[in-house]
Formats: sequence, structure tokens, C-alpha cells
Amino acid sequence: MIEVQSVSKSYGKKSNQFHALKNISFTIPDGSIVAIVGKSGSGKSTLMHVMSGLEPASEGTVTINGKVFENMKAKDIDVFRATEMSFIFQSFFIEPNQTSFQNVMLPLEIAMIPRNKRAEYVNAALEAVELSDKSDVKAANLSGGQKQRLAIARAIVHKPKLIFADEPTGNLDSATGEHIIELLFNLNKTLGSTLVIVTHDRELAARCQVQIKLKDGAIDEIVKKGNL
Ligand code: ADP
Ligand code: MG
Repeated sequence: MIEVQSVSKSYGKKSNQFHALKNISFTIPDGSIVAIVGKSGSGKSTLMHVMSGLEPASEGTVTINGKVFENMKAKDIDVFRATEMSFIFQSFFIEPNQTSFQNVMLPLEIAMIPRNKRAEYVNAALEAVELSDKSDVKAANLSGGQKQRLAIARAIVHKPKLIFADEPTGNLDSATGEHIIELLFNLNKTLGSTLVIVTHDRELAARCQVQIKLKDGAIDEIVKKGNL
């Protein structure tokens, strides 16, 4: 469960302080699919960064599975993030001089997956994003869409329970984008992974169980489906 309680985030010093998030509160049950929507500059990415412990809140608390970021050391947050969470950001961090296989292998080392299981995990993730045939190709030689898919393979390879995706389909054509979304929704179904997706896509947002709508850094509306 993710609990966001009275979270505010400001940038800059007193005189020209900018309030990117204003008193945000909500709860996300395990295994749900959540969309964060709102205009450009409304605070979607900032909210995702604060929710995932990448940036500290200025006020308020974020609790994930009973762990309060505020009370944790930076190093413990890093370990928690590496083992329990996964991130798909628009500016994907892939190693251009390593092959697809090597890129997808990286998180398994950090997440401490047993050595003899790793190749199997990597091959399954590459297959899921239809990059099996690029396994031995250097990432630098992939197209933009292939790099995005590689980033997604890397994000899902250790079968994380909590996935944060910031406009994961933003740079993709609609067919590839749909494929990636199906892949993420499938992880939710098979592993019960919680998905938190920032998106501009209204149709995609409408398919999510919870929509958190932001306006100027504040919650405009929270729309829930069914009996959540
Ligand atoms: P969104 O993802 O919805 O487009 P962001 O969360 O990236 O919006 O940004 C929300 C607001 O906070 C924007 O006005 C942005 O300029 C500001 N902002 C984001 N990060 C920083 C930062 N590191 N320093 C100062 N202002 C920032
Ligand atoms: Mg953003």
C-alpha cells in the first residue's frame, strides 16, 4: 500500500519559492493500476518522484508497505527502491556501449537475483518487448523505439511489485505503445504488481482503476472505478 499524506513540495528559496505540490493526500492499495493525469507542469513527475523516494517531500509523508521514507536513511531508500520498485522514465538510462542483454542484466545484479536464474529472466524480458533478436546488439545501434522497449525490459526484468512509469508510451508509435501497456497490465495481472502511470492519454487513464487528476500542483479530482 502506498500512503501519501499531506505532501507538499517546493522548489527554490523563500522569496521566489515555487510550490510544485500542494497538500496532496491519497492511498493506493496493493495491486492497483493508477493513472496520474494533468496538464504539462501540473506536478505529475514531481509527484511520482516524491512517491517513489527519488526526491524528498518538503512537507508530509510517503509510506510504502509500512515504511516511511522520512524515517529512512538515504542508503536504505536506495536499497528499497532497487529491490522493490521499478522505474520507466522518458529519458531512459541505457548503457549505449553494452548489448541489449547486458543492459537488461544490470538490475538483476542490483536486486540480488541468484546468478543461475539471471539469463532466463533476461531472455524472458527481452522476449516480452520483442527484442530477442537484438540481444547481442549494442544499445547504441537500436532505434528510438527499440531503446524505449529495452528500457522497459530492464524495468520489468526482476518482476517488481511496484512499477512507476512516467509517460511510458510518450515516444512510441501507437501500436508499440499499446503493446507496452498490455505488457505492464499483464504484470499487474500475473504478479499483482502495482502500476503507477503518468499519462496524457485519456483512454489509457480511463482503463486504470484510479485516476489522480492534478491541477497546478493540487488534487483536482480522484476518480475510482468499482469498489476501491
Ligand atoms: P509535469 O510532469 O506535470 O509536466 P513537473 O512535475 O515536471 O510537471 O513540474 C511541475 C512544476 O514544478 C513545473 O512548473 C516545473 O517547472 C517545476 N519544477 C519541477 N522540477 C523542478 C526543479 N527541480 N526545480 C524547480 N522547479 C521545478
Ligand atoms: Mg512530467
